[in-house]
Amino acid sequence: MYDVIIAGTGPAGLTAAIYGTRARLKMLVFEENYMSGGQVVNTYEVDNYPGLPEISGMDLSLKFREHAEKLGAEFVRAKVNKIEVKEDGTKIVETESGTYETRAFVLATGAHHRLLNVPGEESLSGMGVSYCATCDGAFYKGSDVAVIGGGDVAVEDAIFLARGCRRVYVVHRRDELRAAKSLQEKLFSLPNVEMVWDSVVDSIEGEEQVDAIRIKNIKDGTVRAISVDGVFVAVGITPDSDLLKGIVKMDEGGYILADESCRTSVPGIFSAGDVRKKPLRQIITAAADGANAITSVEKYLIEA
Ligand code: NAP
Repeated sequence: MYDVIIAGTGPAGLTAAIYGTRARLKMLVFEENYMSGGQVVNTYEVDNYPGLPEISGMDLSLKFREHAEKLGAEFVRAKVNKIEVKEDGTKIVETESGTYETRAFVLATGAHHRLLNVPGEESLSGMGVSYCATCDGAFYKGSDVAVIGGGDVAVEDAIFLARGCRRVYVVHRRDELRAAKSLQEKLFSLPNVEMVWDSVVDSIEGEEQVDAIRIKNIKDGTVRAISVDGVFVAVGITPDSDLLKGIVKMDEGGYILADESCRTSVPGIFSAGDVRKKPLRQIITAAADGANAITSVEKYLIEA
């Protein structure tokens, strides 16, 4: 019987692992892919994590991981398939590598990118349609590309792509970006970035490779094509909360309802990071959740 099992190794899961080892809990940390690290590994540069200016997302993630390993956290590479809660409160965790019993469970599985759901997106995925600028951007050196979205990720992606691409179109459905003002300032200062306001993608065109996007201006209804070799979709995220569907309370978007203590509606089940309903999704708030979740686990273990 474990004290706590953590699912997920983004900033929330890894921080929970750090706090869990320091609290001397009997603990396992499950990760679906080796050193998966979460969304942060796809960020070229993180400039708002205190004390580590301009660190790459990959390096920051590695630092979290090394810290947890140094303290003795035990990682298991296996997908968690199912959680069950027994009458006495024991959680049964079914995974690819076997079934485990634990008194407390922390879901820190984060979120994944949303799709545009337009013609051409699926068929040209990997052939010009990408969801990760830092993974695929290098293929578009000297080319024209489009970034779809107006949040932090879209703007970070556009800034990153503008370093190597000839022209970067940022297509946004409103006339104002959602991204942090500092990122906006950087974006607007780049000579090879062109904003396409009030516009949505109607379709992505191309036979075997993307060669254009058709965009519709939602204010005047006009449709036009822009020639591009790559389309980077950055229209937000969807929580990876399926494991706890039907077990804990969630909102209509699938985000788990839990306050800052990370306690869900079921005693002994906690949620941390982007999978939790919260006002601000950042690396630092995910890390804070990891710390809060384990502190709540410790209280639960004493009280239960
Ligand atoms: P986001 O903040 O939810 O932004 C999504 C963007 O896509 C919005 O501009 C939205 O438009 C647009 N959009 C949504 N659906 C669309 C559709 N169907 N068609 C066209 N546009 C669509 O998501 P994100 O940028 O992926 O960021 C996710 C979270 O991670 C955010 O909370 C963000 O702050 C956080 N983040 C943090 C850091 C950091 O800590 N350094 C870095 C990156 C991201 P509207 O603006 O009109 O809604």
